[in-house]
Amino acid sequence: MCGIIGAFSKNDAASLVVSGLVALQHCGQEAFGILSYEGNGERFHSHRDRGFVNVDSAILARLAGSVAIGHVRYSTSGGNHLRNAQPCFSETRFGGIGIAHNGNLLNADAIRTDNLRSGSRFQSTSDTEVILDLIAKSGKETFMESLVDALGKVKGAYSLVILTENRHIIGVRDPRGFHPLSLGKKDGCYLLATETCALNEIGAEFIREIKPGEMIDISEFGFLSLFPFEKKACAHCIFRQVYFARPDSLVDDLQVSASRYRIGKILAKESPVKYDLPDGLSASDVYFVSPVPESGIGAAEGYAKVLGLRLKRGLIRKRSYTARTFIQPSEALREDGARRKYCTDNGVLFGKKVILVDDSIVRGTTFKLLVKMVRDAGAKEVHIRIASPPFRHHCVYGIDTPSDNELIASKMDIEEMRKFFNADSLAFISLEGLHYALGEQNYPKEKTRFCNACFTGNYPEL
Ligand code: SF4
Repeated sequence: MCGIIGAFSKNDAASLVVSGLVALQHCGQEAFGILSYEGNGERFHSHRDRGFVNVDSAILARLAGSVAIGHVRYSTSGGNHLRNAQPCFSETRFGGIGIAHNGNLLNADAIRTDNLRSGSRFQSTSDTEVILDLIAKSGKETFMESLVDALGKVKGAYSLVILTENRHIIGVRDPRGFHPLSLGKKDGCYLLATETCALNEIGAEFIREIKPGEMIDISEFGFLSLFPFEKKACAHCIFRQVYFARPDSLVDDLQVSASRYRIGKILAKESPVKYDLPDGLSASDVYFVSPVPESGIGAAEGYAKVLGLRLKRGLIRKRSYTARTFIQPSEALREDGARRKYCTDNGVLFGKKVILVDDSIVRGTTFKLLVKMVRDAGAKEVHIRIASPPFRHHCVYGIDTPSDNELIASKMDIEEMRKFFNADSLAFISLEGLHYALGEQNYPKEKTRFCNACFTGNYPEL
């Protein structure tokens, strides 16, 4: 899970990239980097650092140039070292090349081992650098041919932005389109970004999403679209609709906030809470829906709407806290993060029956704590509704999920999880319901355009 952005501008491309990276901060918080190029055989400039995007005017002044790419990192490959922060850069026979990658390459280690034997040298342990090495070693004539040749050798999920010394920005999406990439324009400048929220932040006009297997070559002449790879069935990450994407983004032709609202409506139809009402009181007098902020909000709204219940904020996400618990790399940090992340509104919760709606349950650590906090705040009943099916299988395509034996749904059935969380009831949306909400009414009779391997274990072939 990473965020990438590229800007082809008239000048000062790095400032556009920094604004976009701030909007993509939800995609990775371990490290960030920017690479710019001044053009005309002049210099490349780079800045990489740990943590949240933080670029002051002095750094920005050093990142001169009309083309730039950037990256926010969560380490899915190669470990959490600054040397693995991207963009990666290498001097090749085509001149300097920078590359920023969102995804995961499954055969990167095997290629690296082979290439080390034949004399390659690497500056990092990141899988992305393998692509640079394959480009450098390709026997093809031109850079674009070498890039296609290199990508033909890797197996995995990738969305890329690449900066070359002849002032081109190239965007690539793998043939299955696991991770998104969008094209935008501002004042005659072209931009590529993982999610459209980055384009919005910059004030750029959204042009369109890059298609699976498409390469976009941006230069002073505009942009050129190529489809150099064998066509494959789509496998867009379904979990991005549920959890990862920012709700104001458009991803894979779906407005994420609207997707989540529809998911909540289906969840309510499938799994309404069984009411136990005192005489003379309606369900909305006794029960209310509380989202787990932020990614549970859309589904909670849909859930409450269908059941005619009020939506109240029993759980509050503290303003000072911005990092996601799921993508923090150690258990201790995650638990500490969850405690620092949420607080309860006791005035809202005391004496009430609350239906907590969240996007997903991965390890279960956070949810156990949330139920305790809600009960400690005086809630009489705590029901849990989850806007995705049980998450039972790790992701190999670049979303850094825990191994299967750390996923609570791979170790417990739903009743065991309910007891573990100390909840009065627990229900998940069905797989069919999730696909239905995303416009696939005939799933599983008809093939899906989504990867759903973390729920089914059916990993798309590469
Ligand atoms: S396995 Fe899950 S998280 Fe990974 S790409 Fe597929 S849907 Fe997304």
